[in-house]
Amino acid sequence: MDGKVISELIEIVGTDYVSTRPDVLLTYSASASTGYDSVLPDAVVRPANTEQVAAILKLANRHKIPVVARSGGSSLQGEVIPKKGSIVVELMRLDDIELFEDLRSIKVGAGVTFGMLDKYLNKHNLWLPVYPESSLVCTIVGNVAVNGAGPGSSSEGCIAELVLGLEVVLPDGTIIQTGSEANPDAPGPFLRYAFGPDVTGLFIGSLGSLGIITNVSMKIKRRMKHFHYETYGFDSSEQAEKFLIELKENDVNTVFASIYEGRILNFFMDMLGEEYEIPEHEWPAYTVSMTIGRIRKDQLESDVVIASKICKELEGHVIGISQLPRGEWDDRMRTFARSSYAHGWHWRILYHHQTPSNWHASIKAIWEVMDEYGLLGHTAGFQTGHASYNFYPHLYFDPTDKEEEEKVKKAHVELSKRLFKTGAVPFKLAPYWIEGVEEMKDYLKFIESLKRTLDPNGIMNPGVLGGL
Ligand SMILES: Cc1cc2nc3c(=O)[nH]c(=O)nc-3n(C[C@H](O)[C@H](O)[C@H](O)COP(=O)(O)OP(=O)(O)OC[C@H]3O[C@@H](n4cnc5c(N)ncnc54)[C@H](O)[C@@H]3O)c2cc1C
Repeated sequence: MDGKVISELIEIVGTDYVSTRPDVLLTYSASASTGYDSVLPDAVVRPANTEQVAAILKLANRHKIPVVARSGGSSLQGEVIPKKGSIVVELMRLDDIELFEDLRSIKVGAGVTFGMLDKYLNKHNLWLPVYPESSLVCTIVGNVAVNGAGPGSSSEGCIAELVLGLEVVLPDGTIIQTGSEANPDAPGPFLRYAFGPDVTGLFIGSLGSLGIITNVSMKIKRRMKHFHYETYGFDSSEQAEKFLIELKENDVNTVFASIYEGRILNFFMDMLGEEYEIPEHEWPAYTVSMTIGRIRKDQLESDVVIASKICKELEGHVIGISQLPRGEWDDRMRTFARSSYAHGWHWRILYHHQTPSNWHASIKAIWEVMDEYGLLGHTAGFQTGHASYNFYPHLYFDPTDKEEEEKVKKAHVELSKRLFKTGAVPFKLAPYWIEGVEEMKDYLKFIESLKRTLDPNGIMNPGVLGGL
């Protein structure tokens, strides 16, 4: 990279916050995405505020240098891996937290992790009711940029449902505020759908390809204190699927609910059973692992009775092993997913949403591809919000076996094609989906023209949003 550009970056953020040192570049060349190759950027810059971010983007735009926004670096689909010749803009110094108790909202900088925020809100008996299972490192803004979900999503939906507004620096350095705070006289974040179209939504799931989010305003809620952890057994997937739908219809507040096939549960038990003190059990064909949460004890007691009644009406049975859902919920800040790392696997993940009643269609597609390609993997997921189920199947490979890695990459694209045909949808427009999405040409053209309009020089995380 031109030395003049580095000097200008230093002018913007100071010497301590720009680096071209090989060891630093190496650190930023990778992310938690084990299934993607690392790429060295040319420079890493760590701005302290929105104005510095704006100055960096103006500079990058002038010189047509690719920019990759990076927060926690915990994303799993290669989206934060730098481009050749790029500047990584690391946002962890933007760590302000502002609480608006009367508005039941909070505004946080791009460097605030879920862990940091939870510690802060706990003191006020409040919380953000959705946590990704990477909460200690993942930022709220990073999760909004990928449109994530996690424990808590079974009642609240994806993280997007909690967003009230964003401060965004556009590729040309313009700073915009969306939602009610666009009015400088507003008391704070209280309404997302203000001032016309939902501009906030444009940046949710945009993977750093339309601008850099510097602040996000979120809904917060009173902290739940009452939980019940339960497992329920069913003989068929139809019963388990119907169970999730009936719980919603009856307003049972399931904060985290997953359906496990018996064979996948056995697989997980091998990895985690002992650590979570889950007793040996002959698991049924389908197990629903569920945490019900409520603010009030009487509400919780009522929900537990209703859930058990619905289970029996569907000819299921209450298993009574609570350690599994308790582990999933209580450990949501430290994560179940880390077990894969602990066991030394690398993987490709295929995040997608399915309807609960079509849960079996995703399971079928995942197994067919795993069997055809001879791969090991899993089929886990969890219910998310009104009528969707978030799957995060992994296809594992041995990182020293290049042939197997190539096989996993092919299987991954093939699986996305098959899932699309089942009616599933991705929540981030990762490039591999595009190969399988032939019927959506007009939509994709629209996304392309949007990207061109906002980012005519194509500097923002090129190649990541649907390959654009
Ligand atoms: C063990 C483990 C468990 C996980 N569990 C979950 C889970 O339960 N749910 C879930 O949703 N995800 C999960 N993930 C994936 C990951 O944590 C999420 O994708 C997370 O939202 C990424 O946030 P981050 O701050 O690390 O962002 P990064 O990885 O730094 O960036 C992610 C994307 O957002 C863009 N971006 C980052 N910051 C900005 C910004 N300020 N403005 C604009 N764009 C930006 C980047 O360019 C990139 O495209 C898990 C990951 C791990 C390692």
